[in-house]
Amino acid sequence: MNVLVINAGSSSLKYQLMNPETGDVSAKGLCERIYIDGRLTHKVGDNKIVKDIPMPSHSEAISAVLNILVDPVDGVIKSVDEIDAVGHRVLHGGMEFSDSCIVDDSVIAAIKKCIPLGPLHNPANLMGIEACQAVMPKTPQVAVFDTAFHMTMPPKAYRYAIPTEYYENDDIRRYGFHGTSHKYVAKRTAELVGKKEFKMINCHLGNGSSLCAIKDGKCQDTSMGLSPLAGVPMGTRSGDIDACVVQFICNKYGMSVDECLNMLNKKSGVLALSGVSSDFRDLEAGEANGDENCVLALQKFFYEVAKYIGSYAAALNGVDVITFTAGVGENGPSTRAAICSYLEFMGVKLDPEANNCRGKERLISAPDSKVQVWVVPTNEELMIAQDTAELVNAAK
Ligand code: ADP
Repeated sequence: MNVLVINAGSSSLKYQLMNPETGDVSAKGLCERIYIDGRLTHKVGDNKIVKDIPMPSHSEAISAVLNILVDPVDGVIKSVDEIDAVGHRVLHGGMEFSDSCIVDDSVIAAIKKCIPLGPLHNPANLMGIEACQAVMPKTPQVAVFDTAFHMTMPPKAYRYAIPTEYYENDDIRRYGFHGTSHKYVAKRTAELVGKKEFKMINCHLGNGSSLCAIKDGKCQDTSMGLSPLAGVPMGTRSGDIDACVVQFICNKYGMSVDECLNMLNKKSGVLALSGVSSDFRDLEAGEANGDENCVLALQKFFYEVAKYIGSYAAALNGVDVITFTAGVGENGPSTRAAICSYLEFMGVKLDPEANNCRGKERLISAPDSKVQVWVVPTNEELMIAQDTAELVNAAK
C-alpha cells in the first residue's frame, strides 16, 4: 500500500510517500514559498532535486508533488492511481475529534469549526485537504489530528479553573499537541517493553516541547494547553507563564495582546534567556565556551522538564518508563543526563554508556534503575500513514 502523508503549513507543504506496513519511504520532500513564488525540494534516497515551480496556491503545490512523483525520471510511481490514500496532519481537532477519520463533508465542516482554536494551522491544513480532493477526487483522504491522542484526559486534567461558561460556550480547555508523536512513542514503547499496561511519561523535546503522562497507552495529562504555548520553555516559546505578565507588559509598553502573545511565542524560551539561539546545539556550544546566559537557558529547560516529570509521576501515582523523543530528546545525551539527575530520588539511574547515543532506539537506564528510561525516535509520518491505512482498509 502507498500512503501519501501531507503536512500543509501556511506557506509550505511537506510530503512523504510511504508504505505503512514497512515504514519504507519511497520519496519525500517539501514545497516552500507557496503564494510567493514556489520551490519544490524532492528526495528519493540520497538523490535530491530542487525545482522552482510557480505555486500561487496549495493546489499548485499538490499538483507539483503529484507530477514529480509520477515523473519518468525523478518519480517513483507510474500513475497517481498507485497512491491508495492520503493522510493529512491537522493541528486542531477541538472537542470534535478523538481519533483520526476519513474526510467527508461533515469532517471538513468540523475542521472549519475548529479554526478559532487553531487559527494559524487549521486553514492551511484544510487547503491541503481540499487541494488533494480537487486533483485526486477518487482517492480517500484521512485527517490525523495533533490533539486527538489527548482526548482521553480526565476533566481534572483538561479543565481550567476559570468560570464554566468559557468551557461550555467557547470550548476553552487544555487540548495538548504533538499527539501523533506521543501516540507513536506510546505504541512503540509498549512493543519495546513487551507490555500493554504500564505507566509512562513521554518527553517530546524539540524546537517545540511537550510532555505526556500515559497510562496503559492512553493520555492522562499533557503539558501544552489550549495552544502550544503552554508547558515547558521551548526554543522560542515561554512555556507556562503567569497571565498577569501579559497584563503588565501590555499596559507598560502599549502592546496589544496579540503583539505580546507573538513575543511569548516567537521571541521567548531558551532564545530569550540565552540571547544567542533557539537551537540547543548553539546553546551547548555557548555553555562549552562559558557563556552564562546559555548555561541559564539550559538549566531552566532541564529544571522545568524535570518538574513536569515529577508532577506526572505523582499524577500517575508512579511511573514505569520515561521516554525521550524529538530533536533534542533523541540527540541530546547531556540534556537527558541533566534531566535524569533530578530524578534520582525516584530511583532513576542512567547507564552513561548507553545514554551516549544519538537518534537510536535504545534503553539508556542502568539495569538497577527503578524506572526504565528509553530513547524512542519519533515518527509522526509513519503514525499518520498507519492510521490512514487502518481506516481505509476498514472501510473497504
Ligand atoms: P521541531 O519541533 O521543529 O519538529 P525537532 O524535533 O526537529 O523540532 O528538534 C529541533 C531541535 O533539536 C533543535 O533545537 C536542535 O538543536 C535539536 N538538535 C538536533 N540535533 C541535535 C544534537 N545533535 N544535539 C543537541 N540538539 C540537537
